[in-house]
Amino acid sequence: MTVLLAGAEILDVESGSMERADVLLQGDRIAAVGPGLSGDEQVDCSGGTLIPGLIDCHAHVAFPSGEPLPRSARILEAVAVLYDLLTRGVTTVRDAWGADAGFPHALSAGWIRGPDLLISVGQLSPTGGLGDDWSPEYGDADAFADPSLPDPLFDGTDSARAAVRRMVRAGADWIKMGANSPLSSIRRGRDITPTDDEIHALVDEARRCGRDVFAHAHTPDSATAAAQAGVRSIEHGVFLDEHAIAAMHRHRCWYVPTLAGIRSEGDEASDAAHRRSVQLALATGVPIAAGSDMSTRPQVDVLDELPLLSEAGLGDAGALRAATSEAARLLRLDHDRGCVAPGLRADLVLLDGSGLSLEDLPGRIRTVWQNGRPVTASHAGSGR
Ligand SMILES: [Zn+2]
Repeated sequence: MTVLLAGAEILDVESGSMERADVLLQGDRIAAVGPGLSGDEQVDCSGGTLIPGLIDCHAHVAFPSGEPLPRSARILEAVAVLYDLLTRGVTTVRDAWGADAGFPHALSAGWIRGPDLLISVGQLSPTGGLGDDWSPEYGDADAFADPSLPDPLFDGTDSARAAVRRMVRAGADWIKMGANSPLSSIRRGRDITPTDDEIHALVDEARRCGRDVFAHAHTPDSATAAAQAGVRSIEHGVFLDEHAIAAMHRHRCWYVPTLAGIRSEGDEASDAAHRRSVQLALATGVPIAAGSDMSTRPQVDVLDELPLLSEAGLGDAGALRAATSEAARLLRLDHDRGCVAPGLRADLVLLDGSGLSLEDLPGRIRTVWQNGRPVTASHAGSGR
């Protein structure tokens, strides 16, 4: 059975141009794009704009809201969050730790609906670094109290390899590494970072396991060290400089700024430095992909990231590209998704009206298709 999405303007994300055409869906794939097509069923999309499903390269779908609740609440809350993301046009998410292998299992078994999820399980760091939930008050303070999440800490190169193996054993698609401590720790003058040898060992072990590494990094030195070791993307990068950007460019490292996540912290000096990092990356030709760092409630997601990327210099078309074709390239999924083109997955978003303006993008979403299946939006907003 084929379904014809008829009469919309189709966005070519690569060029930013629009063309009126039909899109023919067959099963979970786009079978054809062009004028005058016919299908077994027809959906009238006239007056609308079809864009590829959005990809968030840095989110935390399973972080709990602030309230102290039983452990199960973290999982159950994520069910609503995942469905909400789908109704907002987000069809693929790289989870930057927090979701374990039960999430993609529940999605693929059809128990719940949500974006296609690539997981990293935990965030690897040395003792005292990003992944170490130790507090002077309580000592070990695992915020999730979830023993099914493997220990993310390492000290030394063998230990770094073992940490990678623990994550892969637990189902990680990607390896998340903390090249710096959290921004709040850096501001307090405490930044515990992995050595160059540890980063190299970690990246090498990930590669042996068929995985890529993405690195939380804020300072130029840490971003440079991570890029030189071959990580696939630098996340956040609030304080990047010319030297770090040059290293990223040289080593073909991507940049996922997560402007919305940092903006939500409300520190103007960081926001200004962050925008400058994006502008340096743009000027140097470092590829940029969209990520939101969605983690707190009410959360920001990639729809909040798009206008910020646009303002920072990408423009509306560039921001949409960062959340579609460029994001797919970063995730090595561009053979499968990220554009409206024959052969790719039928992950599509129908927007009301024409034009690329990102103003009120969530309000323009009429229908979302994931794997060729329409998503009803009646549930929208419940997880926020
Ligand atoms: Zn994050």
